[in-house]
Parts: sequence; C-alpha cells; structure tokens
Amino acid sequence: MNEAKTASETNGEWNHAGELELEDRSIKCVDCGEDFIWTIGEQTFFHDKGLQNEPKRCKPCKQAKNERLAAIAAAQESGTRQRIEVSVKCAQCGGQTTVPFYPSQGRPVYCRSCFLAMRASQDSV
Ligand SMILES: [Zn+2]
Ligand SMILES: [Zn+2]
Repeated sequence: MNEAKTASETNGEWNHAGELELEDRSIKCVDCGEDFIWTIGEQTFFHDKGLQNEPKRCKPCKQAKNERLAAIAAAQESGTRQRIEVSVKCAQCGGQTTVPFYPSQGRPVYCRSCFLAMRASQDSV
C-alpha cells in the first residue's frame, strides 16, 4: 500500500503540528543536580518560540535564580539604599557570615574579620 520510509529520524520537521512525536524528557538540573521533567507541552512552547537553549534548571531553581536576579535588579534600580543580607560561608575561616551583596559564583567570600585582616596585611606590604 504505502511504503513509508522509516520516518523516525527524518531530520525533525516541526511543521506538522498534530504529529509531533515528543515525549517528556528528563534533564539534569545544573543547580541542584536533580533530574527534572521537560514536558511535551513545554517542549512545544519552546519550539513555537524558536528558542535555542534547552532548559538547564528545574522549576524551583529557575525560580530561585529569577528571584535572585530580580532582587539584584531591584537593588540596583533603587540605588544602594536597600539592605541586602546574604548568608555565606567565609572562604578563610569557614564561619557563617552575611554580606551586603550577592556573591558571584566561584568567587571567595570572607567574613568581616577575615576581610579586614587580609586588607590590613595587603596594606602593610
Ligand atoms: Zn534544581
Ligand atoms: Zn572568616
């Protein structure tokens, strides 16, 4: 009757709206390392929008990141009046401390006494 070529891997054409053979995909979150499900609905939306970068974070992490960015943007917009306190671990003594800024990833953060001690030793050189 009709000799359909094995169309399974025919270079993913996305224009047959009703015939997408999508399935939920499992992706590892870059932030928390947990697997999360990228649903068919989200994939369809993704391709409708012509987006290139697949999601890297699960919903809670994505939301946390957005909130963090929003908080930073809000703080920057409103000048420096807003007091930010972020709980971090001191890279020098390992003690818990708070800093008035959002530390960027991979950058060491020091508690006040370690920071002052380091600065003092630098100054005296
Ligand atoms: Zn996550
Ligand atoms: Zn310290």
